[in-house]
Amino acid sequence: MTIRIIPDIAGRPVTGAPLPDVWARIGDWLQIHQRTIRTVQWGVVSVYAVLLIVPVLLPLPDRTAYLWSNLARFAQFVFWGIWWPFVLVGTALVGRMWCGLLCPEGSITEFASGHGLGKATPKWMTWPGWPTVAFASTTLYGQMTSVYQYPRPTLLILGGSTAAAALVGYLYGRNKRIWCRYLCPAGGVFALFAKIAPLHFRVEPALWQRSQLAREKPGPVNCAPLVPLRTMRGGSDCHMCGRCSGFRGAIRLARRSPNHEIVHVAGQTAKPWETVLIVFGLMGLALGAFQWSASPWFVAAKQWAATRLAEAGILWPLDATAPWWALTNYPDRNDVLTLLDGTLLVAYVVTVALASGAATLLMLLVSERCLGKWNPSRFHHLAQALIPLAGAGVFLGLSSLTIGQLRSDGIPVPFVGETRAVLLAMATLWSAVLSWQITALYTTRRARRVLALFAFCAAMAPANTGWFLLFAAW
Ligand code: SF4
Repeated sequence: MTIRIIPDIAGRPVTGAPLPDVWARIGDWLQIHQRTIRTVQWGVVSVYAVLLIVPVLLPLPDRTAYLWSNLARFAQFVFWGIWWPFVLVGTALVGRMWCGLLCPEGSITEFASGHGLGKATPKWMTWPGWPTVAFASTTLYGQMTSVYQYPRPTLLILGGSTAAAALVGYLYGRNKRIWCRYLCPAGGVFALFAKIAPLHFRVEPALWQRSQLAREKPGPVNCAPLVPLRTMRGGSDCHMCGRCSGFRGAIRLARRSPNHEIVHVAGQTAKPWETVLIVFGLMGLALGAFQWSASPWFVAAKQWAATRLAEAGILWPLDATAPWWALTNYPDRNDVLTLLDGTLLVAYVVTVALASGAATLLMLLVSERCLGKWNPSRFHHLAQALIPLAGAGVFLGLSSLTIGQLRSDGIPVPFVGETRAVLLAMATLWSAVLSWQITALYTTRRARRVLALFAFCAAMAPANTGWFLLFAAW
């Protein structure tokens, strides 16, 4: 390894640091150009505000509106056809750079925190279940109000989240991102996806110690999402903002195997709420949310319930509607959910989440027990191996909105079915490989590992079946 003297963040020399490669130089570039990054962030905030607010002031687009000729259609395409699916892919490729460099909510909450009351974060806010609860609530509420189709629920959900981010920033922390760290509805999902990113900010403990022994006193680093720099081992919580690049000559942007964090770090850091988010959230609730409108089971359940209600003379649930902010209600677009529709929608999504999640959890449990006595941390570690499949499913679900919008505007999108099949197959294989590598950490007995792998593959069956039904069978 080439050794040379490089300056630390405060310009002091740190001896023994490795020569920066292209990635380390990119990290240093981010660290040096924080002012430019902030300017870009405010540009994103401006575009975000326009796309969020202006469509609400315009008439609803009719059938002759295209995404290139109507701002409301364009905004819906940007938010749900591009932003969500490709931010998820971006996070899996380069970590949470979206969060650290571009996210408007992150910028706003940090700005508010710099000019706010600076109170200490309350204990209830640090409960690790909030990201999972927030993800589940916003997903379900989004379906009830047709957030992917209409500007008003988009403003309500995204704008409400942004307002909450600003308020939390104003109240808590000083120049910090308390909202992003503990409450953001997308934060839990991003934290999972970042684990498979082949880029991260790596901390070299030996170089850190050497810098301390040399009594170097570098200037402080403001890590807005409150990552403990010295002990950081993975990219899950890091927003990739680059501010710590070069700190004590021990932190640098570096490549890694996309399997590394899940196999070698997640065993110590995996949390039960992450398992819930993966198994019941991404492989259950998200599946139900994308499925219900295409499901023949939903139609059959609705017909059955309507018939029973009519026979009992209870007709009001078949006619009663709710305001647009509670249930989809656009009569001039022939798009109205009755109370019966809304109740069945929620029941369908929750049932799929529970059924698919429970089946997955059960087989994961069997897989864990194949390795020996019950070990909760090993169980949660194995659940982390599901991240590639869980992520691929959500990406395919979201990208179906992209494809639907493009096709409705007459833009052909070829090889969709084949691409979906290949992506799901590759993600399934990747998850299986991860589980195989994880089992090697816990036992050397091959027979146990093979049995665990079989059970793990069975744990992937419910989600794969659900996506197959949606994309191929229905
Ligand atoms: S650890 Fe903190 S300061 Fe360093 S890149 Fe990540 S978010 Fe930024």
